[in-house]
Amino acid sequence: MPRLGNLAKALLALAVALAASALLASSSSPGRAASAPLVVIDPGHDRYANSATEPIGPGSSTMKIKDGGGTRGVVSGKPEAVINLAVSKRLATLLRRAGIRVAMTRTTTSHVSMGNVARAQFANRRHAAAFVRVHCDGSTSGTTGTHTLYPAYHRGWTDDIYKSSLRLAKLVQAGLVGSLGFPNRGLDARSDITGFNWANVPVILPELGFLTNPGEDRVLASSAGQQKAAVGMCRGILRFLGRAPSSCG
Ligand SMILES: [Zn+2]
Repeated sequence: MPRLGNLAKALLALAVALAASALLASSSSPGRAASAPLVVIDPGHDRYANSATEPIGPGSSTMKIKDGGGTRGVVSGKPEAVINLAVSKRLATLLRRAGIRVAMTRTTTSHVSMGNVARAQFANRRHAAAFVRVHCDGSTSGTTGTHTLYPAYHRGWTDDIYKSSLRLAKLVQAGLVGSLGFPNRGLDARSDITGFNWANVPVILPELGFLTNPGEDRVLASSAGQQKAAVGMCRGILRFLGRAPSSCG
């Protein structure tokens, strides 16, 4: 190294100090990211149904099929699993942009459905701040509208998550109705949903709309409609987490 003048030495010392502080800042940012809340998004169903059975709740002898496969768009022909995933991916993008960590139970529609105990355990293991199960409904009676399912009170199964899930359900239902504009079918407390009874974290299952209704299918099969559904859920989730819903766009 050539001999340095005093000014050069001072500049070198300054550069070393700046590099060290930059290193410190970059190594501390993963810590800050890890402290952000985590939302688990569970796009309903998968490419194939799963006719195996599983207990409806921990310790229960009542068995229920893992996944009947979901519904299908009456005009778009799109399987529910495909629409659920498209909306879920948009929701993940919006939440990440707002500084929320996201984990998804699936990111492709190519497998046999993983079943509902596994979906709940995926969220439990990650101590999710919210577990959001994205679905669309089907009906033979021409029904329309958005509703959100949440766990009914069951001591030993859902007593610890009942109140927070209900609050999450109210906020996401309001967000969806405001954004999609479908009829408001309200909330449904359900005791028969395996993925609720096994959950140890706040959980809801929004039914965005009815794919058996031509108008709602057209909206939910379109990019614009999928974005509206994602924005509506994002707003409800951010409110639940005590954050500004305006960051959802
Ligand atoms: Zn479904």
